[in-house]
Amino acid sequence: MIRYIDDLQLTGKRVFIRVDFNVPLEGRRVTDDTRIREALPTIRRALEMGGKVILASHLGRPKGADPKLSTVLVAEKLAELLGGKHEVIHADDCVGDNVKKQVNDLKAGQVLLLENLRFHKEEEANDEAFSRELAALADVYVNDAFGTAHRAHASTAGMVPFVKEKAAGFLMRKEIEYLGDKVLRNPQKPFVAILGGSKVSDKIKVIESLLPKVDALLVGGAMAYTFLKAQGIEVGKSRVEEGDKLALAAKLLDTAKRLKTPLVLPIDHIVCADPDGKGPVQETPDQVVPADMMGLDIGPKTRAMYTQRIRDAKTVIWNGPMGRFEVDKFAEGTRSVAAAMSINKDAVTVIGGGDSAAAVEQMGYADKMSHVSTGGGASLEFLEGQPLPGIKALETK
Ligand code: ADP
Ligand code: MG
Repeated sequence: MIRYIDDLQLTGKRVFIRVDFNVPLEGRRVTDDTRIREALPTIRRALEMGGKVILASHLGRPKGADPKLSTVLVAEKLAELLGGKHEVIHADDCVGDNVKKQVNDLKAGQVLLLENLRFHKEEEANDEAFSRELAALADVYVNDAFGTAHRAHASTAGMVPFVKEKAAGFLMRKEIEYLGDKVLRNPQKPFVAILGGSKVSDKIKVIESLLPKVDALLVGGAMAYTFLKAQGIEVGKSRVEEGDKLALAAKLLDTAKRLKTPLVLPIDHIVCADPDGKGPVQETPDQVVPADMMGLDIGPKTRAMYTQRIRDAKTVIWNGPMGRFEVDKFAEGTRSVAAAMSINKDAVTVIGGGDSAAAVEQMGYADKMSHVSTGGGASLEFLEGQPLPGIKALETK
């Protein structure tokens, strides 16, 4: 069982919230504050409930303390987003006597943002002594950082057993509700999965986990060409994973056959000799890609077929773009899947995966989906069906 922040008593307690403030920075500017805004409901609720709020996050990949990756800029942005109603104090470390004093001096309504957790290598090493030091700052542990839940680090897993009470925040709850309950455990049928992106090898475990659950698995993206080649279909210069990955694709096709689950491959393509679309772009009449061409998007017949499948579904999970969507000429497949999902109001529609989420965002469909996951790698591992360390740590008997 997992408790949520609302289930706890926070009055006067030191509430340590692991947030995902891993925002993009350019010089002294936060260029995208989405991740900070997404943590606001949990932060606000903890403050309303009378907690003394301590926030902790990693930022970038520092090697030791690096002023360029300090969370100090994030503190300024957060204060602004809280509408100036709460003082946001920045701590110049995340452990140590100074921080302890700052925590003890915290008054209700104030927020203390710790310095970048990854300034200490012990964070990623999930070091026990460091975990205990972090835990010593808190009466209550709350995790709202789904994006790092697939990592067993000190702040996501190691410290949790050393804090008296634990719970998930609102963002974490939404991820578990959609990816866990509405997709993996209790999907309304028909349940359709769409998988694309660059490599079969990245998605093998997801395919294996979803095949027994779905009514159909639709494949697009570069990944489709490894499946086609495994069946002996000519794929020209398309991006294919050779060698044992071909055998693996063949095995997945066999598994699908055995389960009687349609594993649907594109029936036509948008092709070009150049991956950036310089030179003539053509539609193929069938599954075959001409010898000197690359398959860079699903074709119109495939788009129509996938759209129909999506329209008839009650649950749709999508990971991985249908083509090289960064180039406009090859974005139509990805756009048509996003459009079909956004129109189906009777279905639970969920996007997992960094590039797919970015595509949906960029094309303006994000707010028409039931849920767009905030964790790229984490959502993929979640869909593989394995418990994420950051979520497992929150389980109570
Ligand atoms: P996600 O992050 O959503 O899991 P991936 O990282 O697996 O997705 O794949 C995204 C990348 O795959 C994109 O950069 C896209 O350009 C590329 N891609 C998709 N289809 C093709 C294709 N047919 N040929 C080459 N690259 C492709
Ligand atoms: Mg990606």
